[in-house]
Amino acid sequence: MVSEPILRIALSGPLRTLFDYLMPAGMPRLPVVGTRFLVPFGRGGRVGLLMAIHHASELPRERLKRASKQLDEEPLLCDRDLRLLQWAADYYQHPLGDVVFQALPVNLRKTRAITQTRPAAWRLSAIGREADTAALSRAPKQLAIMQTLQAHPGGLSKTGLIEASGATESVLRSLKARGWIEPCHPASPEPTETPSQVKHPLNPAQKHAVEQISTDLGGFTPFLLNGVTGSGKTEVYLHLIESVIARGQQALVLVPEIGLTPQLMDRFKQRFGHRVALLHSALADGERERVWHDLRLGNKSVLLGTRSAVFTPMPNLGLVLVDEEHDLSYKQQEGFRYSARDLALVRGQQANCPVVLGSATPSLESLRNAQEGRYRQLDLPNRAADAKMPEMHLVDICSVPLDGGLSPAMINEIRNALANNEQVMLFINRRGYAPMLTCHACGWLTDCPRCDARMTHHRMQDMLWCHHCGHQRRVPNQCPECGSPDLRAIGQGTEQIEDRLKHHFPDVPLARIDRDTTSRKGALEKLLQGIREGAFPLLLGTQMLAKGHHFPSVTLVGILDVDQGLFGADYRAPERMAQLILQVAGRAGRAERAGRVLIQTRHPEHPLMQMLAQQGYGAFSKEAMAERKLAMLPPFSHQVLIRAESTKANDPIEFLQRAATAGQSLDGVDQIELWGPVPAPMERRAGRIRAHLLVQSHQRKLLHRWLSQWIPVIVALPQARRVRWSIDVDPMEML
Ligand code: ADP
Ligand code: ZN
Ligand code: ZN
Repeated sequence: MVSEPILRIALSGPLRTLFDYLMPAGMPRLPVVGTRFLVPFGRGGRVGLLMAIHHASELPRERLKRASKQLDEEPLLCDRDLRLLQWAADYYQHPLGDVVFQALPVNLRKTRAITQTRPAAWRLSAIGREADTAALSRAPKQLAIMQTLQAHPGGLSKTGLIEASGATESVLRSLKARGWIEPCHPASPEPTETPSQVKHPLNPAQKHAVEQISTDLGGFTPFLLNGVTGSGKTEVYLHLIESVIARGQQALVLVPEIGLTPQLMDRFKQRFGHRVALLHSALADGERERVWHDLRLGNKSVLLGTRSAVFTPMPNLGLVLVDEEHDLSYKQQEGFRYSARDLALVRGQQANCPVVLGSATPSLESLRNAQEGRYRQLDLPNRAADAKMPEMHLVDICSVPLDGGLSPAMINEIRNALANNEQVMLFINRRGYAPMLTCHACGWLTDCPRCDARMTHHRMQDMLWCHHCGHQRRVPNQCPECGSPDLRAIGQGTEQIEDRLKHHFPDVPLARIDRDTTSRKGALEKLLQGIREGAFPLLLGTQMLAKGHHFPSVTLVGILDVDQGLFGADYRAPERMAQLILQVAGRAGRAERAGRVLIQTRHPEHPLMQMLAQQGYGAFSKEAMAERKLAMLPPFSHQVLIRAESTKANDPIEFLQRAATAGQSLDGVDQIELWGPVPAPMERRAGRIRAHLLVQSHQRKLLHRWLSQWIPVIVALPQARRVRWSIDVDPMEML
């Protein structure tokens, strides 16, 4: 007797295993993998996604339940998409159910039917265009469709196609199953928008990069595009995407934060018109779902999106680009802690297409991969067109009287630049007025009652505000400890710098860009537009101002407070500092007028600071790489961080101690180092006590083999239920 097929289903929720169900009663055909089902689970029902069909289950037949019903006729995700999700769940040791369902648009995580109507038109796919139709000699109706579509490269509406070829819908389905035809927009004419943007002839370095990558379209090669700020990386992307579209394929472009760079969006829209779709967190759920279907069905050729866009199904993927690949925002820092950059590489491998990681300040991980020959490195050493790289100067502020954080040299340079009609940009990576207040009489500090951190003074609202847990309180009139009214600010934030600049340059319009001034919808766009139109000679901001912007009139960039990067507890702190400095510096002198960068520091002699200012990122990264190698830190080793927290002081450490002990007895532990458990750098946050355990190995394979034995063991520990805990594979922050 042939046994009844078993549906292996991923259920939404933090579930680490797949669940077996029988087909819904009365279901005529085998369902397709990638469709959703409603299934009984516990006392209720749940939505699940069909991952595989088997013919045996570990459970006895009589204990298997029947799925209630199928929710989709067409698969939402194809086999390749499912393999990416499976890979990600294994690699990040995250419950597969969570991984699968966070990859779907919110609307489809529940039982709602897909809102997209069936595709109204068809065209030849990339495979179909090269297919040998002789194979169809015994299938004349399929052949007729292929010939009709060959005569209509833009595609034909379904009714038109059926009329012209005399075929039926089932014939269309068979061709689709072969992958020879694909749905598309009803034969829309070519984009009507005339590209309003000037297309620059590429300079030799750009040309070389485009040629190298283009030759490899159709195969998996990872590239590291190492191009200084303003070297024309985006122009390289645009050219590559054109080739990909010409091949009838799709391009996936990941960017750190779309909202910050409306300019980039505009450039893509101008070049590719309605073929480009945008996916980012500001979109409404319905909008996101529509975009998602458009890509899944091949209606759009280009997807420009942030981190989670990496999971969007794209059947004809021909190129993956990751802009600013070093950016921390590619790593999700909670829940499913994946790196979109790293998953982009897996995707490229599965789709057999090139993956280009672009940056002016590549991560040490990517640089090492290039050095080891795993990535091909392409350099754009100069700025495109005629712009020069800015000069960098260190301003020693030891024993210099500062005015609210500004040195006399800085104020002087700003004055000169403004007198010259130049635009000036100042960077300080802290919002608010001051990072803390202190009582001058007794030394009381504005500690957060719930965190091991100080509360930031926001003067505009007259509030103290903890940036770690959100706790707020009014600024007291007098010291709560000793009653003295003499409370003073320590350190600076954007508010205070704005205050000082207004004092020194009362008539100069100033734009301040940080989370406080841009929280209202549309506020950022308005400020950015004003900046471009020259309404603000003075710009001041946090890293929101550092990323990707092209403000041609900025010549002087002042960097106020980055020293903590030299001595941070996190071994990545210097790398982050260097990237931030160079990205900020990269805003200077992007057009005709040359740029200057002033960096205020108390450690002008520090070798990393020297190297960065005098020789640039290449020299800096070589030095930083040597230090990592000596310490056997990533990228020379691989890490996993287990974090735990609880309102009860001892629980996190106790859980982690049990976990560590359990890990000691597993196979392969001799290749694993366990560090800790130790209290987290910020031991108390939002009223919870936090600890972590660092796991490290020199070989990723060994680490993962050991990890896959270990995680099930710690999941089952009774202590695990008393804490909140998480697994972070390739942690980027040790907080
Ligand atoms: P990146 O992405 O490396 O920062 P962009 O692609 O934004 O650089 O280019 C920086 C500036 O140089 C843009 O204004 C762009 O239009 C211009 N540009 C790019 N390539 C060329 C070129 N080959 N010739 C002239 N200008 C160029
Ligand atoms: Zn006091
Ligand atoms: Zn707090």
